[in-house]
Amino acid sequence: MASKKIYNESNNTTLPIVSISKKTKDSYNNGRNLLSITQKDLQNIANNICDDFDIMRIPVDFSGIQPSKIYNNRISRKVLGRYSKICGFEKIRVFRFSPKQKKQIAPKTTIEVLLHELIHYFDMELFHLGDTIHCLGFHKRISQLRDMIK
Ligand SMILES: [Zn+2]
Repeated sequence: MASKKIYNESNNTTLPIVSISKKTKDSYNNGRNLLSITQKDLQNIANNICDDFDIMRIPVDFSGIQPSKIYNNRISRKVLGRYSKICGFEKIRVFRFSPKQKKQIAPKTTIEVLLHELIHYFDMELFHLGDTIHCLGFHKRISQLRDMIK
């Protein structure tokens, strides 16, 4: 469990106002309208966003089936993506296929997951919060990022 201090700091943190480049907006909007999105497209969007916020680029992996638990014959607790830092090496993973039908995730959803994971990354490396938690402030930062880009 995150400490109360981190929780409060996280809730009170908003993204700095930076100018979002046309490159970022184009890669985001074009990506959302693709029929099928690739790892290269996702990496490109992530790079552009990191550049705008002047933070080191982070590798994005777009592969695998969403981990899930089956409960009463229904899928519950799907994992859509993951931000990890192992031995100082950071990466974002966006799971590519749905658990049941193994269908590739739609581009709009995929990019949403990417923004979510990027905020986890920002929490650690831009805001140095010490932990990154799904509090109200976290979800506000995702909306803020989305509003800045579109
Ligand atoms: Zn998360």
